[in-house]
Amino acid sequence: MSEPVNLKKNVYGENGISEAVFEFGEKIINQLEDRFKKIDETAEINQLKVLSAMQKRRVSEACLYSSTGYGYNDIGRDTLEEVYAEVFHTEDALVRPHITCGTHALGIALAANLRPGDELISPVGKPYDTLEEIIGIRPSKGSLAEYGITYKQVELLDDGLFDFDGIRNAISDKTKMMTIQRSRGYLSRPTLSVEKIGELISFIKSINSDIICMVDNCYGEFTETIEPTDVGADMVVGSLIKNPGGGLAPIGGYIAGKCEYVENCAYRLTTPGLGKEVGATLDTNRSFYQGFFLAPSVTAGALKGAIFAANIYEKLGFEALPDASEERFDIIQQITFHDPNAVIAFCQGIQEAAPVDSFVSPEPWDMPGYDSEVIMAAGAFIQGASIELSADGPIKPPYSVYFQGGLTWAHAKFGILKSLQKLVDAGIVDHERLMK
Ligand SMILES: *Cc1c(COP(=O)(O)O)cnc(C)c1O
Repeated sequence: MSEPVNLKKNVYGENGISEAVFEFGEKIINQLEDRFKKIDETAEINQLKVLSAMQKRRVSEACLYSSTGYGYNDIGRDTLEEVYAEVFHTEDALVRPHITCGTHALGIALAANLRPGDELISPVGKPYDTLEEIIGIRPSKGSLAEYGITYKQVELLDDGLFDFDGIRNAISDKTKMMTIQRSRGYLSRPTLSVEKIGELISFIKSINSDIICMVDNCYGEFTETIEPTDVGADMVVGSLIKNPGGGLAPIGGYIAGKCEYVENCAYRLTTPGLGKEVGATLDTNRSFYQGFFLAPSVTAGALKGAIFAANIYEKLGFEALPDASEERFDIIQQITFHDPNAVIAFCQGIQEAAPVDSFVSPEPWDMPGYDSEVIMAAGAFIQGASIELSADGPIKPPYSVYFQGGLTWAHAKFGILKSLQKLVDAGIVDHERLMK
């Protein structure tokens, strides 16, 4: 065995990874060379896309400083919005620390562009949980339903394909907007590729080109070389504590799209008359720029981690979704263990690998809003940031964990090896099995 490999094995050994677990991981990685290369190529293309946008919009040192008070003439904020618009190939963008999270960004995009009497349709089945209260699927104060905006949803077909007939039948004179979720989130349906989203949008526009097609882009940014706005989406919406924040943005969300729709969003976010003109950025501009600059390679690291986890656990006989060989269009990985102790061990391993709070051991707890106990592992620099290595699992059948993020591939790898080590130590994965 060569020196560097021995050195590496020793370093992992000093950090609690047994030789068998380490060797098992190396074997898996050797088989992933081609796929990792393709991910690196995507990151390379996206890196140049972001860099050239920053150059074209003449990002200067002054842009890195931030405003206070009303935030008039914040050159950093205004230029950053131009950079986002450049990268997403849209007319305009709204990128703000005042957008508190992805859910808020989606709420703004919907409420800003729908009026009483309008109808919203999701042509891809049930939307992300938190959207249910925005829309009013679950009754909620201030929902779109309270304002007389109706909602319909068309389920995906069993094989995950679009129900084109169902969508055509659902569209009426009232239909103003479509909400299309790119990532599967925590559902069992497949994540949509940008190409697929393009087919869906073309179909919708062929029926009525005035229907606003909004894409919930959360977890999808930079996983491919094109974005939904390259295939006809009128608006994309996402969170800065996921992919596009690159792990540095401490808060924020973005909306990029046609001028008219983004302007409506700005009036909704601040107030009619003020729109984009106000909104002090406090100390966020530098981290927004630097995070966006790093986002393509951070996303690549997270993608490699997801694929590595799928391959490790599938090889050991557990179910991975997406499976070990599937192409990826988001960074989420689900592993099903059919064993509550495995879920707990997995999450404890992820926590032990964290740069922050590595010394605490997560336990399942009754989290508000959930119908079972949930265990969460997150030793993140930014609270709740799911672009950072994190995992969570509801303690109920089929006993799955959802795993995502990793600011660097090396960290994602270490986290997954730690999770496996925990499963071996707990006797859930047989040591012998790793040798095969
Ligand atoms: C994370 C996520 C959201 C909501 O974002 P938050 O920042 O958690 O509010 C919405 N849609 C999808 C698909 C997501 O993954």
